[in-house]
Amino acid sequence: MGRLTGKTAIVTGAAGGIGYATAEKFLEEGAAVMICDVAEDRLKEAAETLSAKGKVLWQAMDISDPEAAAALVKRTAEELGGPHILINNAGITRDAQLYKMELEQFEKVIKVNLMGTVVMCKAVIPYMMEQKYGRIVNCSSVSALAGNFGQTNYASSKGAIWSLTRSMGHELAKYGITVNALIPGAIETPMTRAIPDDIRAKKASTFPMRRWGSAREVANAYCFLASEEASYVNATSLVVDGGYL
Ligand code: NAD
Repeated sequence: MGRLTGKTAIVTGAAGGIGYATAEKFLEEGAAVMICDVAEDRLKEAAETLSAKGKVLWQAMDISDPEAAAALVKRTAEELGGPHILINNAGITRDAQLYKMELEQFEKVIKVNLMGTVVMCKAVIPYMMEQKYGRIVNCSSVSALAGNFGQTNYASSKGAIWSLTRSMGHELAKYGITVNALIPGAIETPMTRAIPDDIRAKKASTFPMRRWGSAREVANAYCFLASEEASYVNATSLVVDGGYL
């Protein structure tokens, strides 16, 4: 029996690096998984590959659209049951130094990363309250805690996700719902592959483990927080950064 057998999970941003690895890990652990992403073609392709591992459905949608979020959760409940687990993984960057950044660039990152997380949480909470069970894992970042050059918008969104998580954990614990945040460090995914190789190598040489993390290493941590093993872990965070912070 897998660690997530009998559970239904929604994984956002599953056409991307960490989201895909998370959906794969959850299927291997016995969960039924609804994967979603704005990138329809990549998502469809991901679903086709992942279907070899277990029960997976896919839905192209924007996490910051409340109607799309409500429809996604309703479909998940009807076709897979639950949902028991929400992995709020989708996120974007729009890097620039603040003095050069357009306000729209700042607002877009807040809209997707922070408001998308809020919208998805609001869509699943009624179902989780009804079933008196839920695991919500939000995705923050070391940028939120350490700051990062060119990432005022991204770091602000991820810092707010951390604060959101703490407060949600306090509000929902009495309904059997835990809410935690994952704080990844530098992870090799399509998001970070845009950074030139020499800069990535230079950065890696400053990390305690002298390497970037893999999407699978983040997926393993999402799995722990989504599983029964984390039953008394609430309103807190798990840092997966190889000791960077
Ligand atoms: P990625 O770019 O590979 O994947 C992100 C996915 O989210 C993409 O497939 C994208 O299409 C999707 N997405 C973007 N906007 C969306 C929207 N509005 N609705 C639905 N889907 C949307 O990036 P990744 O590295 O796998 O990142 C996953 C999460 O991890 C993000 O929240 C990111 O901020 C966080 N994170 C990543 C790193 C890293 O080093 N890669 C570090 C810390 C935190």
